[in-house]
Amino acid sequence: MSQRLPLIAGNWKMNNNHLEAIALVQKLAFALNDKDYDNAEVVVLPPFTDLRSVQTLVDGDKLKIGYGAQDVSAHDKGAYTGEVSGAMLAKLDCSYVLVGHSERREYHHEDDALANAKVKAAFKNEIVPILCVGEGLEVRQAGQQVEHVLAQLDGALKEVPAGQAERIVIAYEPVWAIGTGEVATPEDAQEVCSAIRKRLAELYSPEVAGAVRVLYGGSVKGDNAPGIMAKDDVDGALVGGACLKADEFVKIIRFGE
Ligand code: PEP
Repeated sequence: MSQRLPLIAGNWKMNNNHLEAIALVQKLAFALNDKDYDNAEVVVLPPFTDLRSVQTLVDGDKLKIGYGAQDVSAHDKGAYTGEVSGAMLAKLDCSYVLVGHSERREYHHEDDALANAKVKAAFKNEIVPILCVGEGLEVRQAGQQVEHVLAQLDGALKEVPAGQAERIVIAYEPVWAIGTGEVATPEDAQEVCSAIRKRLAELYSPEVAGAVRVLYGGSVKGDNAPGIMAKDDVDGALVGGACLKADEFVKIIRFGE
């Protein structure tokens, strides 16, 4: 475990209407005894339609739970039907936004150039991107996971200055582990997370590499979280399925206890 404050982020994907969102955040806050919890930073990433409700609840009750969105447009404004801009997310006080999640890459054909544009759009609006990278099964079976992930990283960070890069969050999410119940071993996670950190040192500096939080994502649950989080270069988790139940998500958040 590193000195960086662990970040545990829950990607709700396309789940929970705004009423269900309020109920889940309330349960989470209650289970965390939110006001005096400080072992990890906790963030939820609901669908766009829930953000206003989550903002109202978090502000009203002064919860320590952060929130953000699952995607951001690469464009500032205009004729982009269905898209949501960084400025709109900033207006809702979003702290984070996912960029380049494997489901966006697979179902919406997003590539590294688009991830790069979205990283820049997020920073332009003072929102921290959580950049998702990760290899599919064939790449893993060919033993090419590190090269694959580093190429994704290079592409998404093109012309992103060090002053921004030091605030980014990288989520290493092997595609074969997402939603499958097949979690990477702590050693697999460490291999790629440490390679990401080394590349950040090459692209920027050891200081930037030391500041960036690198998360693991892919079938993280309460039971497997402690082993993964114990690794030196793993600074938290991006959680899908297990974040939809407050009790299981809290088990992950309390991984060190
Ligand atoms: C994800 O979609 O980012 C994810 C990690 O999902 P799951 O935890 O369900 O594998």
